[in-house]
Amino acid sequence: MGCPRCQSTAIIRYGHTHYGKPRFRCRDCSRQFVENATRQPIDEATRQLIDKLLLEEMPLAAIVRVTGVSRRWLQLYLKQKNQ
Ligand SMILES: [Zn+2]
Repeated sequence: MGCPRCQSTAIIRYGHTHYGKPRFRCRDCSRQFVENATRQPIDEATRQLIDKLLLEEMPLAAIVRVTGVSRRWLQLYLKQKNQ
C-alpha cells in the first residue's frame, strides 16, 4: 500500500474514521487517507486491453464494464494518451 498522492510507502497509522476504518497518514506529503480510498494502480495487461478496445471503437461505458476500471480513471487515461 502506498500514498495515493505521492506513492510513498512511508505510511503511519493515524487513528480511525467515524466508521471504524483505520486511517493512515503519509509521512512524506502529510496526506491522510483510509485504506479503501486508495486506488489500485491499473496494471499493464489491463491498459493493453483498453488500448485494444479503444481501437475497436468500443464505447467508454462498455470498456468500464469489461475492464472494471472507473470511468474517471479511463477519462484521465484518454487525456494522457492524447497529449
Ligand atoms: Zn504522500
